[in-house]
Amino acid sequence: MVRTVIRQFELVEKIKAYDPLANEELINRAYVFAMKAHGSQKRASGDPYFSHPLEVAGILTEFKLDTDTIITALLHDTIEDTEVTLDEISGQFGDPVARMVDGVTKLTRIEFQSDQAKQAENFRKFVLAMSEDIRVLLVKLSDRLHNMRTLHYIGQLEKRQRIARETMDIYAPLAERIGMQEMKQELEDLAFAELNCDGRQSILNRLDFLRAKGEDLISVIIEELQELLSKNKIKAEVNGREKTPYSIWRKMKKNDVGFEQLSDTMAFRIIVSDVETCYHTLGVAHAAYPAVPGRFKDYLSTPKPNGYSSLHTSVFGPERHRIELQIRTRRMHEIAEYGVAAHWNYKQGIPDSEGPQYRWLRELLEILEHTAGPEEFLEHTKLEMFSDQVFSFTPRGDLINLPHSATAVDFAYAVHSEVGDCCVGAKINGRMMPLRTQLQNGDQVEIITSKAQTPSPPWERFVVTGKARAHIRRFIRLQEKQEYEKLGHSILQHAFSKADYELTEKGLAGVLSIFKQDSVSSLYAEVGNGNVSGRQVLEAVYPVLRKSRGKALVENVVSFAQARRKKPKNGEVLRRISIKGLIPGMAMHMAGCCHPLPGDRIVGIITIGSGVTVHTIDCETLEAFTNMSERWLDLSWEIPENSPEMHVGRINLSVLNVPGSLGDLSTVIAKNGGNISNLKIVNRSEEFFDILIDIEVKDVKHLTDVIAVLRATPAINAVDRGRG
Ligand code: MN
Repeated sequence: MVRTVIRQFELVEKIKAYDPLANEELINRAYVFAMKAHGSQKRASGDPYFSHPLEVAGILTEFKLDTDTIITALLHDTIEDTEVTLDEISGQFGDPVARMVDGVTKLTRIEFQSDQAKQAENFRKFVLAMSEDIRVLLVKLSDRLHNMRTLHYIGQLEKRQRIARETMDIYAPLAERIGMQEMKQELEDLAFAELNCDGRQSILNRLDFLRAKGEDLISVIIEELQELLSKNKIKAEVNGREKTPYSIWRKMKKNDVGFEQLSDTMAFRIIVSDVETCYHTLGVAHAAYPAVPGRFKDYLSTPKPNGYSSLHTSVFGPERHRIELQIRTRRMHEIAEYGVAAHWNYKQGIPDSEGPQYRWLRELLEILEHTAGPEEFLEHTKLEMFSDQVFSFTPRGDLINLPHSATAVDFAYAVHSEVGDCCVGAKINGRMMPLRTQLQNGDQVEIITSKAQTPSPPWERFVVTGKARAHIRRFIRLQEKQEYEKLGHSILQHAFSKADYELTEKGLAGVLSIFKQDSVSSLYAEVGNGNVSGRQVLEAVYPVLRKSRGKALVENVVSFAQARRKKPKNGEVLRRISIKGLIPGMAMHMAGCCHPLPGDRIVGIITIGSGVTVHTIDCETLEAFTNMSERWLDLSWEIPENSPEMHVGRINLSVLNVPGSLGDLSTVIAKNGGNISNLKIVNRSEEFFDILIDIEVKDVKHLTDVIAVLRATPAINAVDRGRG
């Protein structure tokens, strides 16, 4: 294949065409500088390497970008691939260019490896680098576009696949986010060609087949549309195109239709002078052709978050061909084509930093500040990049854009972080609804707040926006830290008092550096989560103890549980620990899987964010924690004789399906001092009821007694203690 490379004068001509005042001399100097720097380097295609930065610069002229950006494109690979230094670039082309080249170089060094952790860290760096100057991202996207256009020259399949995947997952969504629609479509389609060549080919074949049936359908339809508009005295530019194979493919997957049913493979744009004419044109189109139900979208009154605005509709158009129409003004068209670059092109000067594309970047940075690790960050942001949007409104009528399946909690956080932190309820279209309710387009949402409310950990399971997630997690972390602090404090108190020493903040303050902590409370937290044992702290404060130490203590939380045990009396080990008294301040609850009762052999599992869960020792759930000994607490009961306290146990029964059998059942239980707190019929057949009963009893012996009596009852076929 013979390919021609743009030449120096052509590049300058292209720039001059939209920016007559461009610094021609500087562009020429950059051209020569980059060409010399790359010298005899070659591309995989066999072309001189310099053809690549030149093509990248060429792509950017299509977006009418300013001279500095074009020069950055020419120089973008010099730092990475040649001897050139940033100082040289800064000296020759000024600081702004040097900074941008540095930014692009940083982006280039980032590879999105398959390793989730590295990918995440890299994405974080990526966002930081591009947030310096959005033009850095424009150069990087153009760089990627040219690399994708020449991807087939690369020999190794694995490398091609990795680059294509990265393009699909990261670069195409980024291009969409900053509103560069064409760029996004081409990137996707090129990646699609690499990742699913067969799928793409089958779509191309089908398109060929459709074309062969008719003549040049697109120009016929354009002509007819133009005729219709001029008859109605509307001045408009109409153009049309076939959709890209990838966008057709995605629509097929999304709507789960075969290619035969998918008939709207063509999209037409009608560009008119003003907003009013847009609606007028829509009216004319709908009057002339039947509209396809459910396809009308008004991005004019509510633009997409990336700034895109247009009217969309699908009609059964000329000769009943199903076509998509996009109606917009010239300026909207520019924004749709150029995205953020439309704000950055030479004549705009300083871009509108309040524009929607920038808001997105600012939000990314905000999420970055609130997340603990890069993985969390990737999770927050990736989710959002791929979601569709829902438009909802505040009671005052302000528009809140949210990703698809966002909930009232997401809405609250989108309004303001404080509103999110304190929300207790939501009125959606005037009705009280649960906070987890997913919002629909057009919902009016009023958030009810209370100063006493704090974010609730279960929210994390249903929110979808990064902002909400980041705030909820931060709160959970904070709460966790407080719990660990309380726990650590109590562990230390015991460790110290057991050794007959006094625990003082002053004593602890003196040993902070040993444990690499900067405050007493963070030392408490370290002890509380088991990173440091009470004994270690004790010995640090009173080094004399170190010598007298006998056997090493187990250095985790379990040692605390052991320390709490009462001293053996008469050689007998009493394993009596009051569960409630064990860890002051730490939430504790009975596992729903095994319903432990006093008398059962029990263990505790420390669960991040929700305290300790108590299981019976034979509970199957424990298998999942086999390798996490640091989370196990050795527990036992400390229940006073004749305690009136009741505990819930669970039994499964199979009862004969005969009149009176259920009555018998409840009588037997009541006679034996049990209380049915919950009863559920799990299964009902002609012969039997399978029933699950939660029953309040004193302890495990009490429950065993009840079970024994039930087994002796004629109407009852089988009884078991419930284990799940
Ligand atoms: Mn490059």
